[in-house]
Amino acid sequence: MQKDLLVEKIRAMGVVGAGGAGFPTHVKFNTSCEVFIVNGAECEPLLASDKYLLEKETNKLIKALEIIRAACQVRHCVIAVKEKNINLVNHLASALKGKSIDLFLLKNFYPAGDEQVLVHEITGKVVPEGAIPLKIGCVVSNVETIKNIYDAVKHNHPVISRYLTCTGEVKNPSIIQAKIGMSIRDIMQLCGGVLTDDPVVLIGGPLMGYIEKDLDAPVTKLTSGVIILAKNHPLVASKTKTLSTIIRQSKAACCQCTYCTELCPRYLLGHNLEPHKIMRQINLGLDIPENVIENAQLCSECGLCEAYACIMNLSPRMVNQTIKKSFVEKGFKPQFSDKKTKVREMRDYRKIPSHRLLSRLQLANYKRVPSSKFIETHPKKVELLLTQHIGVPAQPLVKINDRVAEGDLVAEIAEGKLGARHHASISGKVILVDEERIIISQK
Ligand code: SF4
Ligand code: SF4
Repeated sequence: MQKDLLVEKIRAMGVVGAGGAGFPTHVKFNTSCEVFIVNGAECEPLLASDKYLLEKETNKLIKALEIIRAACQVRHCVIAVKEKNINLVNHLASALKGKSIDLFLLKNFYPAGDEQVLVHEITGKVVPEGAIPLKIGCVVSNVETIKNIYDAVKHNHPVISRYLTCTGEVKNPSIIQAKIGMSIRDIMQLCGGVLTDDPVVLIGGPLMGYIEKDLDAPVTKLTSGVIILAKNHPLVASKTKTLSTIIRQSKAACCQCTYCTELCPRYLLGHNLEPHKIMRQINLGLDIPENVIENAQLCSECGLCEAYACIMNLSPRMVNQTIKKSFVEKGFKPQFSDKKTKVREMRDYRKIPSHRLLSRLQLANYKRVPSSKFIETHPKKVELLLTQHIGVPAQPLVKINDRVAEGDLVAEIAEGKLGARHHASISGKVILVDEERIIISQK
């Protein structure tokens, strides 16, 4: 298949990066690359849907990779998974026999799935500061994105569902193929209901996820996990701290121990990100060179400093995230040179084992969801957000009282802008359209 056709199919079927950021995949794939990496690390504790897809949809993934390899002139195709998943490793090794796709085994550390960490583990190279992996000839893609590309190319099937892990304080933790737009409340019910009186919902993984207070909030193309916690779980307290609390506590408690820097995965790759200096600036306003603050842009928001490194329970991650947001609002783009960075010598000894992280987060009691616990979904109502991706919101193509069939295009990319299309995930009647959403009901 020609690259143009591949890119067009991906665009038409509304595929976005399912790994978290939601970058429109048709833009990412409009290129050639030397190394194409499927990110099967799934390094956020408790999440399991990528492993499920790697095990159950292996042939689709391999076929999609063969299409991508030919279209984008890829020289080296790699699927990266953690070596601890022995059954999955054996399954993939046997499925990949005779194929020109390599299997790369990662150690069990966090964040093995950070795309810049992954690129270094596989190629030995470091993505320059402020650049994307393509700068050194690599493209990294999430497992579900590849499956969605297969469905788009082979069956003209749009993205109308999302594989996610629902676990924590629910009766039957499960992998769920959730229709886009169904509610978190429905997901919890499908898992047999909650086991705690005061459930708190964490969307995504324990490190990078966020607390969702609205149980009627919809699943989007980016919802990788729904983790139910008891209200008194320490992670809830840490995730609900406000920036002003972090800053107040930081002024009193940050002892400049530098652990947040010494364990930061991006610092260890050789990037000039030193969160302890950013915290010092926030706390004391000392005369620190401007570029120290600008380097907050290099933060991946992996959350290791907040969840593991900081002995004072402070959150350099949140501080960096806020600085990055303010750069975007002000239209300021810090400039980084393309100079090669040298990996820090201690890197290999400072990778944080995932099981230690799980214990530190007090999540070790929640076992991994087995792939036999799988649920398909048939919601009666869905709420499709017009922003489920990086870029501008999609523009609705339907109006109230229109009837739509499952898979119909309901929102288009704004002319000339970065964005993604969205499709009806159920058949029914449009009952609401506004600037933020389209609601479809079967009634
Ligand atoms: S969140 Fe913390 S540990 Fe992770 S990249 Fe940013 S500063 Fe480093
Ligand atoms: S780890 Fe915590 S206490 Fe130590 S320098 Fe970083 S923010 Fe300050």
